[in-house]
Amino acid sequence: MKRFSRQWRVWLLLAIALLTIGVLMGLGLLQARDRIQEQEREHLRTQTKVVEDNLARQLTTIHRSLLSIQQALPRWQSSPAGRAEGQQTLINIEAAMSSVRTFAVLDARGTVTFSNREELLGRNFYQRDYVQVPLQMLDPKLLYVSPPFKSVLNTYLISLARVLLDSQGQFAGVVVASVEPGDMAILLNSVRYSDDMQAMLVHGDGKIFLSEPNLDPAMAQELLEPNSPLGQHLRNRQTLNYFSGLQADNQGARLTVMHTIAPANLSMDKPLIVVLDRSQDKILAVWQRDVVNQTGAYLVLVLISSFGLSFYQSQRSQKIMAAKRLKLATEASGVGIWEFDLITKSYQWDDTMYALFGMDPKAASPRNDGWIKLLAPPELQRMREATRATIQQNQPFGMTFQIRRPDGQVRAMHNRAALYSDEFGVPRRLIGATEDVTERMAQEAELRVAAATFESHESMLVTNAQVEILRVNPAFTALFGYTSEQALGRSMQLIKSGRHDADFYKAMWAELVAHHRWQGEVWNVRKEGVEFPCWLSITAVRDDAGVVTHYVATHTDITLRKEAEDEVKRLAFFDPLTNLPNRRLLADRLHQALVNAKRSQGHAALIFLDLDKFKPVNDRHGHAAGDQLLQAVAHRLRTCVRESDTVARVGGDEFVVLLPHITLAQDALQVAEKMHARLRAPFHLPTGQSVLISSSAGVALYPEHGLDEAALSHHADVAMYTAKAAGRDQYVVYEPALDHAEPVATPETPTAQTPHPKPRLE
Ligand code: GH3
Ligand code: MG
Repeated sequence: MKRFSRQWRVWLLLAIALLTIGVLMGLGLLQARDRIQEQEREHLRTQTKVVEDNLARQLTTIHRSLLSIQQALPRWQSSPAGRAEGQQTLINIEAAMSSVRTFAVLDARGTVTFSNREELLGRNFYQRDYVQVPLQMLDPKLLYVSPPFKSVLNTYLISLARVLLDSQGQFAGVVVASVEPGDMAILLNSVRYSDDMQAMLVHGDGKIFLSEPNLDPAMAQELLEPNSPLGQHLRNRQTLNYFSGLQADNQGARLTVMHTIAPANLSMDKPLIVVLDRSQDKILAVWQRDVVNQTGAYLVLVLISSFGLSFYQSQRSQKIMAAKRLKLATEASGVGIWEFDLITKSYQWDDTMYALFGMDPKAASPRNDGWIKLLAPPELQRMREATRATIQQNQPFGMTFQIRRPDGQVRAMHNRAALYSDEFGVPRRLIGATEDVTERMAQEAELRVAAATFESHESMLVTNAQVEILRVNPAFTALFGYTSEQALGRSMQLIKSGRHDADFYKAMWAELVAHHRWQGEVWNVRKEGVEFPCWLSITAVRDDAGVVTHYVATHTDITLRKEAEDEVKRLAFFDPLTNLPNRRLLADRLHQALVNAKRSQGHAALIFLDLDKFKPVNDRHGHAAGDQLLQAVAHRLRTCVRESDTVARVGGDEFVVLLPHITLAQDALQVAEKMHARLRAPFHLPTGQSVLISSSAGVALYPEHGLDEAALSHHADVAMYTAKAAGRDQYVVYEPALDHAEPVATPETPTAQTPHPKPRLE
């Protein structure tokens, strides 16, 4: 806004200056015109004077001649000789005066009595003005000037006459001279110094006697109108008059000088007026050329100055804009600009520099070198060396250095500068830019760490927000078999196995959206198609606005861990020798079976089984053979039951069979019977020996013999011990009476070949 008003002010000043120059030039031109007209008027007036002087002399001469004729007349009239003398005298005078054509003496009746021209003698001109007017006036002193009239020779003449009076003072005739225009025309022409100049001799009666060049009658008529300048001049009997303007319609404007000729020594009845005029156009032709030239020059001045000013202003505003742009750009970029004068060793800083160095511009020293104190000595040394190298080798300057700002913060700064030399090549100044690169360096360090991390042994991949793979590390390639070229641009589907359903991934994404990270076990697939378990961590990377830009995923192969876990699980729940569920797993399954049976009001059975006289087998065949026998027993027992049934090993030679779904008690007995029978078949050990054993079993039914695990287990146990007590090699179904039965002494029975009794079934 301020700049605009400044611009307009400059334009206003220019306009005022131009206007002033224009007005002065205009005034100068007007003055010049007035001066030219003045000079011209003066010139014309001088010319009229020339005419006047000439004419006055001629008129005086003619008047004198007329006077001398008048005086000689009585002598001439007195005798014939006098008459002849008179005639001769007139001829002589006329011959001496070129402007006069005729001298004549007329008597009171108007008849020519003397004349230089013989042919006029005796002719009567009584009616002519030059007779009539003197007759009227009878003034002996008066020189009568006739209006121009057409002579017998068809030229305009004027006559000058004096009256003759007799002794009684009566009219006695006139003595007259007719003046020829020839001489006067020469006179008039001689004062015309330019072609456009009109010279006229006008009679006081308002008739044009002579005009050079010749005027046409219509114009002459117009010029003599009563209201015309000439008409007024005549009417007002003015001596000298000027007029400039239009005189006749078809003439241009003219400058006119009218001068009345009435010589003091002559008493003329009518004056003669010399009129000289010139065309204004011609007078002012040079001036008009000056006007055109000066106007042209003025317009050129206006154009050049306006163009110059607008050019200057546009240059200036461009410069201002450029400076502003630079200032804004440096301010926005946080780059400080400085200048170091190599002669005065002083620094000039912009505002950003002070902000960067945390210094107060008002507290700056004249050389503004206080910032040097912020550098540690080694840093200062480095900077001095770099500066010296720049000056000596005229190289661009660039270095990063550390400062400790007055507020205690340690910042890293980067300086770039160029050397400026004067026209003799002497280095004068260093001009440079400084940037705080602390954050950038920290970021770069972080990036280096990130890059190193990315090259770790753990498989990593980075995707964009659309989950397209942008980058994978060598560990990824090693794990999944895809090179980075094969993986880039693909989605994570690339390594997805078919093991998880849509809900699994839905939950994973819900977690990612809510908490920006997810981790868990996932089955993935390698390039060659092998599925394997992974521990997957996904972290969403967000920008400053919180918008997710990338995902980083790490995969850890957990195949081995999984296997180890499975082994632990197996050891915890299974018997390592027979691979049958152990007591713990049995307890779990029994609990589950009873819960289900309770809910479905179904039936279940629990069978406790112990090998008879197993110990001696060990003793006889060795512990390894005993183990093999136990494994074989386990296998046979499994073949006696359905998949959904459980056969568990709960002790040395003790097995428990859980039948979770039976319809009738009979089903359980059938299984007990089947097992009993199967175990009686001889076992062929890998060592080549054949072994015969028997077994004792107790059966308890749900819900008949117990509603919970403890009761049911106890009762199956009781039944089994009843079977043992009853001589082994049999199975017993629990009955409450057994609870109180006295333990029965076990008779020594042969382990093999002993026929087993039928189970006791009530
Ligand atoms: P009974 O008819 O009363 O059951 O007599 P028994 O010899 O079978 O004796 P009992 O059931 O009380 O003892 C089981 C024996 O089984 C004791 C032990 O020597 C043997 N035994 C226990 N665990 C193992 C095992 O893991 N391997 C082998 N080979 N023998 C075992
Ligand atoms: Mg036993």
